[in-house]
Amino acid sequence: MAKSGLAGKAQTVLGPIDAAQIGIAVTHEHLLIDFRVVFVPPTSEEGKALSKQPISMSNLGWVRYNWASSLENLRYEDEALAAREAAHYARAGGRTVVDATSIGLKRNPRALANISKAAGINVIMGSGYYVQASHPQGLHARTVEDIAAEIERDITIGADGTAIKSGIIGEIGCSWPWTRDEKKSMQAAIIAQARTGAPLLIHPGRSETAPIEIVNFIVKNGGNLRRTIMGHIERTIFTAPVLDELAATGIYLEYDLFGHDSSYYPFAPQTYMPNDAQRLEQIDRLIANGHLDQILLAHDVCSRHRLKEFGGHGLDHIPARVAPWMKARGLSQVQVDRMLVDNPARVLAFV
Ligand SMILES: [Zn+2]
Repeated sequence: MAKSGLAGKAQTVLGPIDAAQIGIAVTHEHLLIDFRVVFVPPTSEEGKALSKQPISMSNLGWVRYNWASSLENLRYEDEALAAREAAHYARAGGRTVVDATSIGLKRNPRALANISKAAGINVIMGSGYYVQASHPQGLHARTVEDIAAEIERDITIGADGTAIKSGIIGEIGCSWPWTRDEKKSMQAAIIAQARTGAPLLIHPGRSETAPIEIVNFIVKNGGNLRRTIMGHIERTIFTAPVLDELAATGIYLEYDLFGHDSSYYPFAPQTYMPNDAQRLEQIDRLIANGHLDQILLAHDVCSRHRLKEFGGHGLDHIPARVAPWMKARGLSQVQVDRMLVDNPARVLAFV
């Protein structure tokens, strides 16, 4: 057994729980975040002015389209707001949220514990480092072993000087092209995965070849693909043979941008953001090809415009709307539960 002694249990910010208590789970969200590291500066004078304005009904249409160019949109750190958003999720039957806010995105263990209590949901906190642009000063000079030990401490002792422990390693950020320091951070995450038995969650670079490059790196470094989640599948892979090659590795495939239906994708305008119907088509195809047990679902809420109080779809979008839609399209309750309950329980429970 790994050092954490948590085999068969998931680790929430309020302590370990049995895998059976995970229930409906979304495996990639941000209950609180400071995501200004991805700010896309507008080029027009009008855009520059709008980027500094607070969000209102008169600019919400612009914010929805230019969501990475509004400074207020990229940051929400209000516990009470997050608890109200999470409470909608609980009312729709949601039980567990994976908060993938890793170091560099203003992870806040105490706030996550408060939100968990207030909303009555399980929250599983991340660890490790996001993309290079968010790396703290000093990471460049640190060793793989040092970073691995830090992740291990987050999981076995507590994060950021608290006794509140991480239950997942990630989201571990990779840019495209993949940088030296990001590879170091991934190596550390792989070591911590083996030592603790925790699951690993990856944010791949925006290239169709990035996920397989990362998979090969994990295998070469002794990681466990069956304990690893590849995030952001739908904004990364657009061709069936590439998706099939990745699925054949046995890694978990996370469709984690549900509700994000603005097809213009500011970080990669040469591609597009698929809508929910396109996500469901891809998922149907993966299920037909025997990959149901690898699929995970989430919204990756990381901006205000996707919160209910700012006109968004909210954290309850998947349980309240997507799950019934899947059934209307012909999936059985057993198949929907596999993606929303059984697969999260399997991957989030430590080994
Ligand atoms: Zn994320």
